[in-house]
Amino acid sequence: MKHRGPRGAWILIVALVAAWGCNDAPDARPEDRVARPQGVPQTRDLETFGRDLDAAVRVHDLVYQARGTGNVQMVATGAGNVIIDTGLVTEASRLKPMIDRINDDPTTHVIVTHAHPDHYSAADDFAEGGAEIVAHREFLHNQTYLKALVPFLMPRNRIFFPEQVPVPRFADRAVQWLYPVIEPTIVVDDEYAFEIGGVRFEVLSMPGAEGSDGLCVWLPQHRILFTGDLFGHVFGMWPNLTTIRGERTRFPLPYIESLDRILELDPVLLVPSHFEPITGRDRIRAGVIKTRDAVQYVHDRVIEGMNDGKDVYTLMREIRLPEELQLPEIHGKVAWGVRSIWEGYSGWFRLDSTAELYGVTDDAVYPDVVELAGGVDAINRRAALRLERGEPAEAIRLLDIARSVDPRNRRSAEIRLAALEELLERSGDVNHYEVYWLRHRIRQTRELL
Ligand SMILES: [Zn+2]
Repeated sequence: MKHRGPRGAWILIVALVAAWGCNDAPDARPEDRVARPQGVPQTRDLETFGRDLDAAVRVHDLVYQARGTGNVQMVATGAGNVIIDTGLVTEASRLKPMIDRINDDPTTHVIVTHAHPDHYSAADDFAEGGAEIVAHREFLHNQTYLKALVPFLMPRNRIFFPEQVPVPRFADRAVQWLYPVIEPTIVVDDEYAFEIGGVRFEVLSMPGAEGSDGLCVWLPQHRILFTGDLFGHVFGMWPNLTTIRGERTRFPLPYIESLDRILELDPVLLVPSHFEPITGRDRIRAGVIKTRDAVQYVHDRVIEGMNDGKDVYTLMREIRLPEELQLPEIHGKVAWGVRSIWEGYSGWFRLDSTAELYGVTDDAVYPDVVELAGGVDAINRRAALRLERGEPAEAIRLLDIARSVDPRNRRSAEIRLAALEELLERSGDVNHYEVYWLRHRIRQTRELL
């Protein structure tokens, strides 16, 4: 971790508290601190995974994997090769030669598991020579909207994946390259099967954790399932039902159906397109069941809460996975999943403020609040008090009010920095999106000091 550690945050908090004549040292609520799950890779490990390798890894008699941010899988049937996911086009110059060196057989099919660049953006490279390109019907829609929103999405992606997203001055050209438009020659609605060299391939619709266009590839004779991103990038993590970088909400019930479909298949080897394969029938079954039950549990608690008249923010705070269904929240968070389920079913209008219907937010009256409070200094004092009580998010809410009239106020920036660093400390460096967002805000705040 390069972020300023807890000691820095506490020095600042203590200094602030001393400045307002309070002797009680702040003490964050211990239950707010997140423990890092043991033995689980971090999202940022994708930046280095497989970079020490100069050849594809053979993970099964028939299956090779060239490893990078997104892996390229190849099934070598002896009569032709089938590629499953292509990795990032920015890594194709490293990964494709590894695949090409395996044998001289032609590539007959390139199957892309969904419309994220780390899975499809090198499809044309791998399909050169006339291979079929296989994608889900929903891929066409997702490719279109993601491409259309590139100017919106790229600055956001740059916050969360600073190593992988091109810097702005190269963005236009690089982004066209990163988000190519590919034209699948075979479009899958529910299932598409074919056979090469005596190996049967079943391409199955598996919507879920990373979008509505998820495909998995099943080799029934060998009970191998290629899962793309169905489990996200780490098997057994809490799924990212809404990614805060900005994409369509992913619905839990189709995901649960996909997981049930996997249990029916009963695989002995899972080959996801990130990190290493998962081996062993029992381990796979246990992981799939736990993920399914955790998603179902949260889904059902949200439904109950909605029917009990609880608001979405209350449910975000209240709903927790029970001990036996705990999953690492390294990419998605349960609280964010709660909100995406709530809003996925009900839409954005919470029947709370009428002003919501007219595009008028709280910000519109923040300057009035500052004036009524007696100025920015008064708001700052209250924000410092909230922080001292161990309520950094509440402190930030107050500072948002102050910012409406004085966005460069130094005292506001000092308190905000301490609040952000406290949140970062509490995060336990577990959830990639949370950590990278907080680091981004910390950098922005430091620039004011
Ligand atoms: Zn991916």
